[in-house]
Amino acid sequence: AAKDHGKGRYAAYDLELDRRSVQHAELGAELRQALGTHGQLHLVYQPIVTLPEGQITGVEALIRWQHPQRGLIPPSEFIPVAERTGLIVPLGRWIMREAAAQAAAWADDPATASITMSVNVSARQLREPGFPEELAAVLHETGLEPSRFTVEVTETAVFDSDAALTALRGIHRLGARVALDDFGTGHSSLGLLRTCPVDILKVDKSFVDGVTGTAEQAAIAISLIQITSTLRLAAVAEGVETAEQAEVLHRLGYRLAQGFYFSRPASPGQIYPLLTRAAHAQEVAADPYRGVH
Ligand code: C2E
Ligand code: MG
Ligand code: MG
Ligand code: MG
Repeated sequence: AAKDHGKGRYAAYDLELDRRSVQHAELGAELRQALGTHGQLHLVYQPIVTLPEGQITGVEALIRWQHPQRGLIPPSEFIPVAERTGLIVPLGRWIMREAAAQAAAWADDPATASITMSVNVSARQLREPGFPEELAAVLHETGLEPSRFTVEVTETAVFDSDAALTALRGIHRLGARVALDDFGTGHSSLGLLRTCPVDILKVDKSFVDGVTGTAEQAAIAISLIQITSTLRLAAVAEGVETAEQAEVLHRLGYRLAQGFYFSRPASPGQIYPLLTRAAHAQEVAADPYRGVH
């Protein structure tokens, strides 16, 4: 009976696997179609702000897929599919172009000229030969100043990959910035800071959640701000949801943050009035990463 049970379990598992791979294949095909259609894919932008003022220094572009039947599909669902199918390469190209064009449009407007743009780049995209050259072409075509553009990569994307490291060096050579995203959740965090050309650490939400807790829970966020300060990197606290978190982060030495407490990701039209208000803070805006190389 035990054997039958085991067999049944395997069968159920296989079925589930089959069902999921069919779903992934369908999603992949639909994503391919969405890429060729106008209007299903769009970018939203989430502000990155100074602490304690809450002034916007830049935005992070986040992709959204408005599927005609399934509704809004989150990136956590379709980015992995895009990676597996290789669709991430044309999709990533579109994202980079769209975000740079938006940033260039803001840069041309005196009311929003100082805003920086951060774009998430996945492992497969980063390792694609010619990635830095492609970024160079996008920056050239849009006229966006390279120092206004940040490439966000996860530790996992860079870990153990010479191709990724070479690409990051190329990005740096252009004068664009590199941010390590979700920092502290990967498997190689601290060692990477020596080998990897990095400007910004984005301290993962899980550590930000800890800052209002016990000393043990706050320890990682405290260590990371010390390390970034010693290495002269900028630190961005991710996923700030409360005033108390913002206040404690500021007290710990954090000068940049992002999260629903300040603003949810929003369309360019919704973001624009927030950006023009930010422009009053000229001395902050002039060089958002001042003191940082
Ligand atoms: P990420 O780059 O770490 O982006 C931050 C995610 O946290 C976003 O989710 C954002 O909406 C969410 N977030 C921001 N503030 C808060 C907060 O205060 N509380 C909570 N609970 N969440 C917050 P989103 O947009 O669903 O993106 C999820 C992930 O998908 C991103 O994580 C990134 O890894 C990936 N992704 C998103 N857009 C792109 C893209 O254009 N290209 C690539 N390759 N990946 C993308
Ligand atoms: Mg990111
Ligand atoms: Mg992140
Ligand atoms: Mg994340």
